[in-house]
Amino acid sequence: MTSLRCLVTGGAGFVGSHLVDRLLADGHEVVALDNLYTGSKANLAHLASESRFAFVEADVCDDLAPLGRFDWIFNLACPASPPHYQRDPIFTAKTCFLGVLRCLEHAERHGARLLQASTSEVYGDPEVHPQPESYRGSVNPVGPRSCYDEGKRVGETLCFDFRARGVDARIVRIFNTYGPRMDPSDGRVVSNFVVQALRGEPLTVYGDGTQTRSFCFVSDLIDGFLRLMTHPQAQGPINVGNDREHTMLELAELVMRLTERGSELTHLPLPKDDPTRRRPDLSRARETLGYEPAVSLEDGLAATVGYFREVLADREE
Ligand code: NAD
Ligand code: UDP
Repeated sequence: MTSLRCLVTGGAGFVGSHLVDRLLADGHEVVALDNLYTGSKANLAHLASESRFAFVEADVCDDLAPLGRFDWIFNLACPASPPHYQRDPIFTAKTCFLGVLRCLEHAERHGARLLQASTSEVYGDPEVHPQPESYRGSVNPVGPRSCYDEGKRVGETLCFDFRARGVDARIVRIFNTYGPRMDPSDGRVVSNFVVQALRGEPLTVYGDGTQTRSFCFVSDLIDGFLRLMTHPQAQGPINVGNDREHTMLELAELVMRLTERGSELTHLPLPKDDPTRRRPDLSRARETLGYEPAVSLEDGLAATVGYFREVLADREE
């Protein structure tokens, strides 16, 4: 494949840094743009001497014109963990709306193909299970999750509107993804449980722990991104994730087994508007992209536990 010039906004974050690695491994040139709101330069430190890579510390809502021409733009800039995106909801809504607008304008200027990182949160607390792309969702427009859910929904709308003007914008609806390089203080359930277990602290289960999620290992997600971007035709929104569904109690048990810690559980109140269950219908991804998640939860968690063991050991030194 020819070498492409790629922009990854949110490139210093958990998913973004893995995407940067994959694009470089595929022979492309990559610029990672990030304001370090939740990301970290440490996620990109191994690329310090890579001549095909550059890091730009900037906000995705700023004018992107000075960055020049790109063939591919991946818009991942946005805090993704509920505690982080709720910290400054107006910042989150602006990042969702203005960030994708800036990326779409830049794509239009240079004829670039764009991938918009959308989310299963566009389905809200779903009444349809599992969730196909045709489901329009059940989102509260005025609640603590709205800045993110509605922000991502308007992001999809803008992609749709720019497509009508000829921009090749592709939308991926990402379901709960985990793996190495999540921040220990990220606040999402996988990193919380693993870090708590390794520290010998009780695992914080919100509510009764019977709510479900379907967890995707990060390498499977990145595989889905590349399948979508290299597909000859743009698709409508497309779910990417893993369709094995687990309760939070099952996840806690598995984490305790893999960390070999006999930690206890402590129950905390369920956050408002927390979705009761979530599982992607992957039919479209399978049929159109030949996508199939390859990493089991057990294997993916084992790799994640190994990563957090090293991070916590370094911090204690
Ligand atoms: P993350 O918080 O690790 O990464 C987000 C990155 O965006 C961070 O590096 C952060 O500093 C950067 N950022 C935030 N606001 C910015 C701004 N205004 N300008 C420039 N940079 C900014 O989260 P992640 O899990 O890597 O998520 C990446 C993307 O994938 C997000 O868009 C998120 O909504 C989407 N997503 C992730 C998941 C998941 O389970 N990981 C699920 C659904 C959607
Ligand atoms: N959760 C939990 N304990 C934690 C963090 C989260 O039980 O320490 C629950 C949370 O209430 C939700 C599920 O785990 O039901 C997934 O939460 P996360 O923040 O990872 O992602 P999202 O809610 O955005 O899917």
